[in-house]
Amino acid sequence: MAGLNLNSLKPEEFSKIINSFDTILTDCDGVLWFQNDPVENAANVMNAFLNSGKKIFYVTNNGTKTRDELVDKCKKLHFTATTDNILCTSYLTAKYLQDMNFKKKVYIIGSPAIAKELDKVGIQHTGVGPDPVVGPLNCELIKPDADIGAVVVGFDEHFSVIKMLKAATYLNDKNVKFIGTNTDERFPTSNKMIIPGTGSFVRCIETCSERKATIMGKPAPYVSSLLSTQYKIDPKRTLMIGDRANTDILLGKRCGFKTLMVLTGVNSIDDINTWKKSSSNDDKELIPDYYTSTIGDLLPHISIKK
Ligand SMILES: [Mg+2]
Repeated sequence: MAGLNLNSLKPEEFSKIINSFDTILTDCDGVLWFQNDPVENAANVMNAFLNSGKKIFYVTNNGTKTRDELVDKCKKLHFTATTDNILCTSYLTAKYLQDMNFKKKVYIIGSPAIAKELDKVGIQHTGVGPDPVVGPLNCELIKPDADIGAVVVGFDEHFSVIKMLKAATYLNDKNVKFIGTNTDERFPTSNKMIIPGTGSFVRCIETCSERKATIMGKPAPYVSSLLSTQYKIDPKRTLMIGDRANTDILLGKRCGFKTLMVLTGVNSIDDINTWKKSSSNDDKELIPDYYTSTIGDLLPHISIKK
């Protein structure tokens, strides 16, 4: 039965479910922490999963940090992690291009993290940062680089019309690959400011290039195929934990994982109840198998191997 409240179960039933998985995938923001504030007991839960012999992966659509930077963040917040436990979209982008034996140069609209991950696998790129235009747009502004073989779009605080113009011009050649790190519409924030998410930039370049990007992040299946081929995970014995239905839960549903929504982030119990009542299949797909208030609820139920 989809949409089961784990806290409505007897403790032994709750424990049986939680201990039935070999692999735990978890989203980060809204599940484990809010920016630099950890969720209570989140680190204890993830460390307990690790100590109980499970494979764990931090799967985040955040493309503004490298794997190394996320390991540092994990350590600072007392989560045990190495780069092997981290799947972020800056890394996935570099890995995707490396696996296809990409030898050309990348035009990046995005953050320094994407540039650093490309550097790590020896893929050339155009760099990141401001690209200001003085005066009206004209054809002289762009001198196309014949080596460009891919356009990557991520979160870019220096996003601009000239970057749109360059990306669309490169993408006019159908041989040039088009990659978007993720499609999140907004960043969750605790105040009233709305921060546009990477999806806003990706959709913008899709519109002016009249092409569709290949997406690296959740709910696109690339991360799951990587987990299957590289880490040999068994989807049926994998739990995906998330706070956002249209990325975390949808990824799990599409890849045959069990899904657990925590109510500390984007979606609420009201959302789950609305989807349960809806007749739309798109809404039904968003209902997690299980939900609970916070990831901290899992702590008493994880059996540590002696
Ligand atoms: Mg989240």
